[in-house]
Order: sequence, then structure tokens, then C-alpha cells
Amino acid sequence: MNQFQYVRPTKAQAAIEAVAKDPNARFIAGGTNLVDLMKRGITAPQKLVDINRLPLKQIEHQGSSLRLGALALNSVVANDTQVRERHPLLALALNAGASPQLRNMATVGGNMLQRTRCTYFYDLSMPCNKRQPGTGCGALEGINRMHAIFGHSEQCIAVHPSDMSVALVALDATVQVSGPRGSRSIPFADLHRLPGTTPERDTNLEPGELITAVDVPDSPFTKHVHYQKVRERASYAFALVSAAVALDIENGIIKAARLALGGVAHKPWRLTAAEQVLVGQPATEETFRRVAAVAMQGAKAFKHNEYKLRLAPNALIQALKTAAAA
Ligand SMILES: Cc1cc2nc3c(=O)[nH]c(=O)nc-3n(C[C@H](O)[C@H](O)[C@H](O)COP(=O)(O)OP(=O)(O)OC[C@H]3O[C@@H](n4cnc5c(N)ncnc54)[C@H](O)[C@@H]3O)c2cc1C
Repeated sequence: MNQFQYVRPTKAQAAIEAVAKDPNARFIAGGTNLVDLMKRGITAPQKLVDINRLPLKQIEHQGSSLRLGALALNSVVANDTQVRERHPLLALALNAGASPQLRNMATVGGNMLQRTRCTYFYDLSMPCNKRQPGTGCGALEGINRMHAIFGHSEQCIAVHPSDMSVALVALDATVQVSGPRGSRSIPFADLHRLPGTTPERDTNLEPGELITAVDVPDSPFTKHVHYQKVRERASYAFALVSAAVALDIENGIIKAARLALGGVAHKPWRLTAAEQVLVGQPATEETFRRVAAVAMQGAKAFKHNEYKLRLAPNALIQALKTAAAA
């Protein structure tokens, strides 16, 4: 049995210090990912710093953005009136994730920092550079159905599993962080990283940095939105591919667009070039097919996930059609 210390600070500074000072300490929020990883022996922190007593549950509109506290529960955020009215894409993505029970435990901060579901990461008998740097990537030549088609490296082809994060990257959210060296803001697109030669690092957070909130800026994307999630079961399954779409349409012409894909890369995959192609175009299937081709530029599949090269553009086209018709 692995013994560990458990502390429940009431001040953010104390929580940050406890983790910053001790490389074997971890924050714990809902615990729905971290405890799983501990039970399976994938991680063995010697100290858990429970952050649930910190005042980080607020959902409030400040200036020109909606601030979601890092401890706001996924279910609370998904059902919040302001979220549903101002950012319906976020509510759709949250409700597509996990199950009602999990969403009642999972937090905003924990959701974005959940670790990959790559089976080689979970299987202690297999090599995995993310779990144990230098051991190799079992998925590269293995069963790689679920794996990345964008941004992968020879060291790691895992994907990020969060649905919420796909909507947040599309909506230009900003992550608020406090750490041993003070506070800073990180554009959501820069929170997660590509694997490169250091796949053990999922994010650009520094040791001891605590996510305190995420800010979602006001936008015109309150009507024509859709989150298309393709998975192997109707619920309680991670995305094979997902597409987050937000459109601003006037008289049938697209004035602005935000697009992102999930289940395709080590980070939520924003499609900036494809967004630009949409602007000024009629919201028709022909436009959407052209844009999907742009979105897929640079994609590279492996032996078992070639189907994603067709599934991803089809999911994007479907999401665009549904959003346009909303
Ligand atoms: C069976 C199952 C199915 C699932 N299906 C889906 C799905 O379809 N889509 C989906 O998106 N998710 C899915 N999930 C994942 C689930 O959404 C995550 O487990 C959950 O969001 C994690 O949140 P948490 O608060 O429990 O995090 P925790 O487990 O408490 O923490 C996760 C990580 O985040 C760190 N952390 C937590 N909060 C902070 C903070 N404020 N600052 C810094 N670090 C922090 C912890 O140290 C830990 O490393 C599923 C999970 C399970 C078990």
C-alpha cells in the first residue's frame, strides 16, 4: 500500500506552497481522475493537497467575460443560466462528457488537467514515454485506434480527452493561475502542449501553479453553435473525434467563426486557418466541405486510426451544418 499525507488548506497560498515545495505533492479537486491513476499505480503522490476548501466555486460575469472558478463543478457550469445564455457551446461540450455522476464531482480545473486515456499510459506492463520517460511509445506500432492525427511526435501519439477544453479553446478562454512566483494569465490555446521530446509534460504550468479560474470572453456566439461528439457508445465514453463550432451568421453570410477538434491531438486542436476561410462565405454545405479540407491539412494517421482522416472532417461538416441551422 502506498501511504500518503492528506492536507486541506483553506488559503490558496498555503495550497500553492505545499505543492511548490514538494515535488511529490499534488492538488486534488474532484479526484475522479487522480484517484483512478493512484489506484492503478500510474502515479503515487506522497502528499495530496485537497483544494476543495478554497473559495474557487464562483461563476460570475466580470467586465467583458464570464469567470468560472476552478472548483465550479462540471454539472453546475453546464446548467448555469449565464453559461447557457452566453456560451451555449460550453454547456453542450460539458454535457457530452462522462456521466451525470462524474460531472457532479469533476471540477473546471481538474477537467482541463485530466490525463490522457491512452491504453499504453494505463498499462504498467507496456512502454510509455508519458508515464515513464525514455521507455518508448507502445502506441506508435501498437493498437493506435484512439490516437492523434495532428501534432504527434515519435515519442508520443496520445490525445487529450477533455470535451470541455475543446469548447474553451474555441471560445478564446483565458486560464487564471497563481503560483509560487505570483499570478499570471494563460491563453487557453497555450495551456496544453504538444508532446515533442517531453511528452511527460501535458501543460505549460510550472510546479506548484494552481488554476484559480477560467475567463470566457463575451462573444456573438450565442446561437449558431454545436458540439459534435463521435464515440463508441451514446454516453459515458471518450470522443473518438469531436468538433466544436461557433458561428456568427447574418443574412446567410458568416461574419465570424470559431472551430476546434477534440480527440485528434495531445491538446485541444484549434482550427484558425479554417476559421478564416469561413469568414464572408455563405453558410452552405459547399462552404463547409471546403473548410473541412483546409482543417485537415497536415493530418497524419497511423495503422489503426486512418478512419479519423474521414471521421474528423465529417464530424466538422456535421457540426457546421447543425450550428448554421440552429
Ligand atoms: C469513466 C469516466 C468517463 C469519463 N468520460 C469523460 C468524457 O467523456 N469527457 C471528458 O471530458 N471527461 C471524461 N472523464 C474525465 C472527467 O471529466 C475527469 O476525471 C474530471 O473532469 C477531472 O476533474 P476532477 O476535479 O475530478 O480532477 P482531479 O482528479 O481532482 O484532478 C485531475 C488533475 O488536475 C489537477 N488539478 C485539479 N484541480 C486543479 C487546479 N485547480 N489547479 C491545478 N491543478 C489541479 C490534479 O492535481 C490532477 O493532476 C471521464 C472520467 C471517467 C472516470
